Amino acid sequence: SAKEGGRNTFQFFTAEMDVRAYERLLLENQLRRAVERNELALYYQPQIAAGSGRIIGAEALVRWRHPEKGLVPPIQFIPLAEESGLIVDIGNWVLREACRQQVAWRKAGLIIPRIAVNISALQFRRSGFVALVRRALAETGADPNGLELELTESALMEPTDDTERQLANLKDLGLSLSLDDFGTGYSNLAYLKRYPLDQLKIDRSFIRDLPADAEDVAITSATLSLGRSLGLTVVAEGVETPAQRDFVTNIGCHAMQGFLFSPPLPVAEFEAFVAEHRAAAIPAGKTA
Ligand code: C2E
Ligand code: MG
Ligand code: MG
Ligand code: MG
Repeated sequence: SAKEGGRNTFQFFTAEMDVRAYERLLLENQLRRAVERNELALYYQPQIAAGSGRIIGAEALVRWRHPEKGLVPPIQFIPLAEESGLIVDIGNWVLREACRQQVAWRKAGLIIPRIAVNISALQFRRSGFVALVRRALAETGADPNGLELELTESALMEPTDDTERQLANLKDLGLSLSLDDFGTGYSNLAYLKRYPLDQLKIDRSFIRDLPADAEDVAITSATLSLGRSLGLTVVAEGVETPAQRDFVTNIGCHAMQGFLFSPPLPVAEFEAFVAEHRAAAIPAGKTA
């Protein structure tokens, strides 16, 4: 009967929900141990100066080398890490690992001017965040000038004196601050001037349909002039085609990041990319 069918449907859904809840719990427990088991890895995506084509930095992007699932992208575990609070430990690991890598590269003579690290809103709002960053820098010996923190609009939501002070304290450490995924979240433009930011990253959803899409042309051009008039550098994310590269270069973007240049790469491949890129950019016999 219809009634029975309804009940069966209900039972089916609860069973399915149980399986999901169980899988989630399992994943959360595995993620809890991922840091201590050394299963997290940072990949690096080069950032390219729009004018010279030089590598001006790299964004560190976390991956989870899961023992059974293989390489798990952040979209599949960062939200869970945020909901469970595990993002604090993971974020600390990411920060230290990026600092450690900067020092290792510099010792090896490989100068990547800046390494950018993503900071989740939860991590940023936890008390003691500035002290953690200070400690990561001090204990690894990393150069703060070569470190950039990428914050999202959600971290800066509801602007307060506390947030302003925290950002100023971070700046006092000597690092730079970048606003990630600009235009996708809450945008209280008035506070862009209040906060000591250095850079805006235009979200790749606005880059994807360039240069054909008139709205995206308007949005990216307006973001560029806004950023420039506020004295910020502007980076375009998700540049995949030469036409997109040319467009963002022509409107005055300072730097670009995207599959046209390189996807995020594991350390050894990133080093190979840098070596090849430099060889191509500076032909033998010419100086930089
Ligand atoms: P995001 O910070 O905006 O990072 C850029 C994302 O865009 C990366 O995805 C990158 O692989 C991707 N991307 C770059 N260029 C292109 C392109 O040309 N085309 C396309 N389709 N995609 C491109 P990924 O590595 O999967 O990271 C996704 C998001 O996960 C990041 O977005 C960031 O929000 C978060 N995430 C990654 N690592 C960390 C981390 O260590 N901590 C925190 N809190 N979040 C992280
Ligand atoms: Mg980012
Ligand atoms: Mg982004
Ligand atoms: Mg994005």
